[in-house]
Order: sequence, then structure tokens, then C-alpha cells
Amino acid sequence: MWVRRHLVKLQDGRCCYCKRPFTKRGATRATIEHRKSLMDGGSDDLSNLAAACFHCNQHRGTQKNQAKQKAQHTIST
Ligand SMILES: [Zn+2]
Repeated sequence: MWVRRHLVKLQDGRCCYCKRPFTKRGATRATIEHRKSLMDGGSDDLSNLAAACFHCNQHRGTQKNQAKQKAQHTIST
């Protein structure tokens, strides 16, 4: 995917969060991250994308899901 290659190049081959250099596989492989998620109205535009390692991408997703669950919980109680 050229977008990912482009982002990785822009970020000097490092994750936008933890700054670890990307590897081909494993937890530090490069993934595309939406700075503003599509669900929050973010776009697929390059300005909204960043390269994050798999670990950070997963971690961020988990945090978001937890926050969401918490919010839903608050509404239901
Ligand atoms: Zn990272």
C-alpha cells in the first residue's frame, strides 16, 4: 500500500507514538492510524493519517473501546 510506505518515509521509519523503528513483522510492524477515527468523522485523507506500530494502534483502539463502554455504562445507569 503506497500510503503506508509514504507515511513511514515521512516519519523516518518510526512509529508516530512510541518512535520505535518499524519492523517487517511483530508488534512494531507499520500500520495506518487515523488521527481522527472514521467514526468520529475523520477522513481517509493523508492529513488525517499517520503510521503507527501495530502495538500502539491496538493499544489506542483498546483505550477507545474502554472509554466508549464507560460512556455507555454512564448513560444506562
Ligand atoms: Zn508505536
